[in-house]
Amino acid sequence: MTVRVRFAPSPTGMFHVGGARSALQNWIFAKQRGGVCVLRVEDTDAARNRPEWTEGILSALDWIGIARGSYEGPYFQSAYAGEHRAAAQRLHEGGRAYYCDCTREDVQARTGSQHRGYDGFCRDRGLPAGEGRALRFRTPDEGETVVVDLIRGEPTFENKLIEDFVIARGDGSPVFLLANVVDDMTMGITHVIRAEEHLPNTPKQQLLWDALGVKPPIWAHVPVVVNEKRQKLSKRRDKVALEAYRDEGYLADAMRNYLMLLGWAPSGDREIVPWSVIEDEFRLDEVNPSPAFFDEKKLRAFNGEYIRALPVEDFVAACQPWLTGTDTIAPPPWQPAEFDRAAFAAVAPLAQTRIAVLSEIVPNVDFLFLADPLIDEAAWAKAMKEGAADLLDAAITAFESLEPWDAGSLKATLEAVGAERGLKLGKAQAPVRVAVTGRTVGLPLFESLEVLGRDRTLTRLRAARVRLV
Ligand code: GLU
Repeated sequence: MTVRVRFAPSPTGMFHVGGARSALQNWIFAKQRGGVCVLRVEDTDAARNRPEWTEGILSALDWIGIARGSYEGPYFQSAYAGEHRAAAQRLHEGGRAYYCDCTREDVQARTGSQHRGYDGFCRDRGLPAGEGRALRFRTPDEGETVVVDLIRGEPTFENKLIEDFVIARGDGSPVFLLANVVDDMTMGITHVIRAEEHLPNTPKQQLLWDALGVKPPIWAHVPVVVNEKRQKLSKRRDKVALEAYRDEGYLADAMRNYLMLLGWAPSGDREIVPWSVIEDEFRLDEVNPSPAFFDEKKLRAFNGEYIRALPVEDFVAACQPWLTGTDTIAPPPWQPAEFDRAAFAAVAPLAQTRIAVLSEIVPNVDFLFLADPLIDEAAWAKAMKEGAADLLDAAITAFESLEPWDAGSLKATLEAVGAERGLKLGKAQAPVRVAVTGRTVGLPLFESLEVLGRDRTLTRLRAARVRLV
């Protein structure tokens, strides 16, 4: 049997990191078995879908390594409306579904509760189809539905507790539960790997498979992704969009490595591993069913490690979108003509060991490209205390005639200037750093001054000195 799995996102927003995790798991599962991963865009909720969300999902998948051509599709659920309706009709004709004209209020008035579900009032009324009549599935009164789930064992549901659920609305349109099943059948899906949130739908869906006379797939419900408060990651509360991480400067390799650790780990206590190891070692049946904590701090640390592991030329190339701006990344504060490729290349190795996400490159190097540094006033107030003016004067004088203008001589000179004033190097550096870069933290100071050059360094030190008068 050829394994066929699918990833079936609904294009109703940015691409959720939990969805990206499920997509990767499906894709690897298929790859490991020489099977096929299908991408099906579940776009039948016309009110909530937008074509740009679909584009966003496709490009985010591509970014994370699921390239076009490595999956079948994309198929669009809306193209299969005929199949969905035909299945609904078949279920009706076979007596497995019936029309119902009860309103929610009718049901509540009879059952006295909002939560008990449908009471089966129309089961045997034999209503024909008609405007406003929903089609309900007639769930079996007896027996149980056993879901075979690679992660959760065999969750078992008593059929009598499953209400006669709606499969097509009053306007005749099939609901998600049915459309999703019919598409999986049409596409020959053998394994449904999806988020735990869908587990409650599964017994209903399996009953539909049975009623339509097709052997149900094997299921795998992967754990819900939660924040540090153990709440399900939500787009209103948490940063969940894969695109947001991409635009902040997370590397695709770091991101997909981290996503695969949500509920699973490679062998030997390792976390950061080459993608090929994950592709070899990942086992769906080893996925832990408990909620998986999406730890943004850990992801950041991961990303820093991935950044440091890049060859420096790759790091320089990876920074490019933040150095110029793109459709989705804001342009840097300098003008394109102010950018100096050689100066950037000179400081890139220093930045590479210090940043955790690529967007942080901008505040680290902006002093090199702007005519005047962006002064952080809090940093200024902290650094320009008593003695700063005198220290700057001495540094200016010493730097004017310094030879050679390199990091080693700059350091020795400022060290001497500080020592004459009873200041350790750290204290002596602070006013110089703020005067030149505008900030109290950043790249190593003397290497920065070397790259910035004597003239621009002196101009900035003198400007700061004027401000201190
Ligand atoms: N379209 C559904 C969702 O985005 C997925 C359903 C499924 O995987 O079966 O939640």
